[in-house]
Amino acid sequence: MPDDQFTIRQQIMQGITGTLRSARELSSQFGISQRQVDGHMPHILRSVSRDKSRRFVMEPSGCHECGYEFLTRTRLTRPSRCPQCRGKQISTPRYGIEHRELKGK
Ligand SMILES: [Zn+2]
Repeated sequence: MPDDQFTIRQQIMQGITGTLRSARELSSQFGISQRQVDGHMPHILRSVSRDKSRRFVMEPSGCHECGYEFLTRTRLTRPSRCPQCRGKQISTPRYGIEHRELKGK
């Protein structure tokens, strides 16, 4: 039985393989809201982490005003303000999936 949620998730996974896409780019690409993209991401992260041949990568959010990077942030969504300068010009994180070289020796 086809499952729409499952299908869109597969499509997003394909769409970010070998590249980086923000939630905004994905929402326009797949015709879903950014909120829905954010909702799919934890599931995608989980299924990729189970797969030894692939790796989930995330380019962290950063502050446009002072250059602060949210490297330690574990949530996948965009933070609302910068802890360093309190600026609100925060870039959105981008997501990607890399193929991992499996070194079998
Ligand atoms: Zn800042």
